[in-house]
Parts: sequence; structure tokens; C-alpha cells
Amino acid sequence: MANKMKVAQVTRAGGPIEIVERPIPEPPADWVRIKVQACGVCHSDSLVKEGHWPGIQYPRVPGHEVIGLIDALGQGVTQFKMGQRVGVGWHGGNCGHCDNCRRGDFFACTVDLKITGLSFDGGYGEYLIAPSIAIARVPDEMSAVDGAPLLCAGITTFNALRNSGARAGDTVAVLGLGGLGHLGVQYARKMGFRAVGIARGKDKEPLARELGAYHYIDSQAQDPAAELKKLGGAKVILATVTAGDAMSAVQAGLAPNGKLMVIGAAQSMQVSPLLMIGGKQEIQGWYSGNAVDSQDTLAFSVMTGVRSMNEVYPLERAAEAYDRMMSGKARFRVVLKMGA
Ligand SMILES: [Zn+2]
Ligand SMILES: [Zn+2]
Repeated sequence: MANKMKVAQVTRAGGPIEIVERPIPEPPADWVRIKVQACGVCHSDSLVKEGHWPGIQYPRVPGHEVIGLIDALGQGVTQFKMGQRVGVGWHGGNCGHCDNCRRGDFFACTVDLKITGLSFDGGYGEYLIAPSIAIARVPDEMSAVDGAPLLCAGITTFNALRNSGARAGDTVAVLGLGGLGHLGVQYARKMGFRAVGIARGKDKEPLARELGAYHYIDSQAQDPAAELKKLGGAKVILATVTAGDAMSAVQAGLAPNGKLMVIGAAQSMQVSPLLMIGGKQEIQGWYSGNAVDSQDTLAFSVMTGVRSMNEVYPLERAAEAYDRMMSGKARFRVVLKMGA
């Protein structure tokens, strides 16, 4: 039994998440094996569960918010040592040689782009193996459960904000206060922006304030664009929602040269070219980041106290944890804790 592990796997597109026993895998050259301590449950795991990603091979273990201990080193891995605490996020590796990689655009690798939990088995299990290029170091001060969601929801909001062009003191609005948005408001505040939270309902205001928002806009009771204009317009609006019409409704609230930074995977949205032209506005999308961005996210979060609010489940209840995440009712991220 010692060479067996429990994982939660999806056997076919649309099939259930099932707990099975498998042999513990050996890491090939340049890969490492991690004994998983915690793994976040992310909405993108539905790509595996429902088969909405081309080329997924089943059975597949989802999970791309992984923290654990290095448990075995493949041949040639010298930058990590046994027992070291590490993490793996969405970006699971790249070739390093194609033109996009040579330009530093690792996320756009055209030869060997890997995504954790999609291209290879992820963190819904007691162990996983992952390419060493995808491994982030985890600070001692960050617990596994606290850190796991920061490797997807955290890095995405942190990295989008720090690359948005906003400067200290600028008004930065965060649209949506869910899994992404509740981190976005915290990062915006800690980065020195005038953080504004926008969500539906007056009842979210205390939460927004607690997370560090200077202003709160209830988009049900108020026109969010008009309210942003009263504040002088937003230099950046970080759109974390998945409703395109909610994104369209804030475009007019951008300041001159303002940017709508889109990280919520809405199906589509309406854009006013007239507003873009008249306001010299930009609309940009942002993916998450690579291993070193994960390290930066964790280090910044330790330094400033940014944390995800989590609901914790044991691995054995992975299917229930997934359903809870998909229900949209979790406050705010769902995390599997191994051995819990
Ligand atoms: Zn994710
Ligand atoms: Zn490449």
C-alpha cells in the first residue's frame, strides 16, 4: 500500500469526480514529485470535468492551485531539494525555445505549453508530478491552505493589477467581490491604489470596506459608471465578473487613458468604440502568470497580509467541494486539504 496514493479523478468528459487509488508516479528528468498539502478548487476545473478544453486525455486529476513538499527529484533537477515547500499554479510549463518563449511570452508557447491539471494530473490527490520549470518556492510564513488559492485567483488579480499601468494613488475599481474580486480589492489597497469595490447589493459594502475598499458602489442601486465619474473616473477597472453586461456597464466610468482590465471569463461583452476613442481608453485581458509570478504573489501576500477567505474540505469530499465551488455560494474559495 505504501506505493499507492489516493486521487480524485474525472474519467470522462461530463463524468463524476471519483476517488481512486493509483500507483505513486515517479518524476521523469526535469520533473519533481510533490506530496500535496492543499489544492484549491477553481472554476477552471470545470474545463476538465466537462471536457471544455481541447485534447484533454482521461482519466485526468484536476487541480492547479497546489502546495506541498518536494518528495522526489527527477534527473537533472538541482534547483530544489527534498522536503522543500513549493507550489504549482495554472502555468505548468513551456518549451523555452520557440519564438514566443524566447521573447519571454511563456504563456503563449507554441510547442509545449502545459497546464497543470489539464495537460498532466493536478493537485486533487496525495501526490503529483510536475515540470520543475513550473515550480514556485513557498514562504514559510504562508500556510498551505492560505497559499493554495493565491496560485490562481491570487496571482491572476495581483499580476493583472501590477501590470495594469496604475500608479500609487490612482483610482482602481474592482468589479465583482467573489473569489477573484475579494483578493483584487485587497491587492489594490495594498499596492497603494484608491481601491473601489463594485458589486450587487448594499449587503456587500461591509465586506468591501473590510477588504480595504475606500469606496463601495452598489451596482443594483446605482449606475456604477456615473458613480466612478463622481470619483474622477477609474484609471483601471479590474473586471472579475463573468457577466459581459456588467463589464459593459462600467466602461463609461473609466478616466481619460483608463484601462478596463478583463480577467473574468465572460462569453462576450459590448464595447463602445466612441467611449474608447473619446477617452483614449484601453481594454486588455490578462491570464495568470508563471512560477516566478507565483513566488512574487506569495511574497507580497506575506508582506502585506493579503489572504483568501476559504472553505476547506478533505480530499475524500472532492466531489462535494467541486459542487460547492460551482454553486457560486462559497465564501470565497474552496480548498482541499490533504490528510484533513
Ligand atoms: Zn484557476
Ligand atoms: Zn515555447
